[in-house]
Amino acid sequence: MPAWAGERLLSLEEALKRMLARVEPLSAEDVALTAPAELLGRVASGDVTARLSMPPWDDSAMDGFAVRAADVVGASAGAGIQLRVIGEAAAGKPSSAELQPGTAIRILTGAPVPVGADAVVPVELTDAPRGMAGLPAEVSVHATVALGAHIRPSGSDLVAGRVVILRGTPISPHHVAVLVAAGHATVAVHARPRVAVLSTGDELTDPGAFLGPGRIHDSSGPGIAAQVVAAGGRLVSVARARDHLNEVERSLRAAVAAADVVLVTGGVSVGAHDVVKDAFERIGEIDLWRVAIQPGKPLAFGRALRADGGTTLLFGLPGNPVSSFVTFELFVRPVLKRFAGRRDHLARDAVAATLADDVTKSPGRRAFLRVVLEPSSDTSAPIPWVARLAGGQGSHVLSALAAADGLAVVPEDVDGLPAGSVVTVWRFDGSLR
Ligand code: AMP
Ligand code: MG
Repeated sequence: MPAWAGERLLSLEEALKRMLARVEPLSAEDVALTAPAELLGRVASGDVTARLSMPPWDDSAMDGFAVRAADVVGASAGAGIQLRVIGEAAAGKPSSAELQPGTAIRILTGAPVPVGADAVVPVELTDAPRGMAGLPAEVSVHATVALGAHIRPSGSDLVAGRVVILRGTPISPHHVAVLVAAGHATVAVHARPRVAVLSTGDELTDPGAFLGPGRIHDSSGPGIAAQVVAAGGRLVSVARARDHLNEVERSLRAAVAAADVVLVTGGVSVGAHDVVKDAFERIGEIDLWRVAIQPGKPLAFGRALRADGGTTLLFGLPGNPVSSFVTFELFVRPVLKRFAGRRDHLARDAVAATLADDVTKSPGRRAFLRVVLEPSSDTSAPIPWVARLAGGQGSHVLSALAAADGLAVVPEDVDGLPAGSVVTVWRFDGSLR
């Protein structure tokens, strides 16, 4: 009996640790900051420093008049101080004039502060018209302003050479503008892992196709493909093979050549037509098989050498569509994230929730139940969420998966939990209502 077929089921942690040990973050590539669809979720491969300071010069935070603060000391609404307006500084059109005592330069937000000025008086504190207007010859200032008022000093946002985002940061919308402001046109991020999906099963047909006797639609293939994209992977192929060893082997070889990770579904259990493990052994080797989880126990994991010298990781996900979904969540998603450069947060965000229902499960396996999350009706409850079963928990019940907000974790060592127990729920993206 091969080592991977040992009697003892592996724990989730042990299996995941062995998988992650096979993963190195992929090499870096530059992605344009103007290409958000390509950029978002990609992970910075190094610290990114500012190439320039921001603002690059002292500039105005307000529309108003650049003045010398000393010139308007004592100004008030009743006793305005009159200044001669000698020019204008607009955003993109700095003034080359130098401010002399007794003068002002009209200034607009973002314009460099002219030489000689040390404060900005907002237009609201003058007699000048607000909004579009010609340049007045004079302006009456109605308030005293502090030295430096409404001037944003050079470097008050970014300082050239300082780190703007750290290596390992997944790029989100709140990072993009600052990277451009810091002088970058592109950012170096890890490549996306290339992923091939292969559904196996004689019963499978195309989405939407007429169902002949005994046939079903291949729902896992497209489902897993969607999970790959949502997890930041790059789909290189989505294919199907019948339960024939030679055919699965042939399809696997083609998938391995073009991918960092190959995800096979079906045919990985102990059925008479389950050929996937044998196919893995023909093209590479198996590291582990069967994990103490429910659903998803018959998961297999291995690897194959590529012609280019790299190694492709092989996952044999169980055929039942809920099992393939859950095993992807538990194992494939963290592996893809690590390939893409994530160091931490490989798992889903979790919340604590109180079970609304009694639940049962197989002892010895950690269960992942499809649950709906609802805010607790008792707003002062220490646990703010209630988890209700989203439907039947059989590994074929896709309707309960579709209804679920996340997966509630029930430990190995119990065969059930009564309503009222507190559980951890791994929340799906976008599940917050
Ligand atoms: P298997 O692991 O191949 O024994 O499949 C277990 C169950 O999952 C069977 O009921 C299969 O028909 C079903 N199944 C396998 N692959 C798929 C798939 N790609 N889409 C939908 N159901 C599947
Ligand atoms: Mg099958």
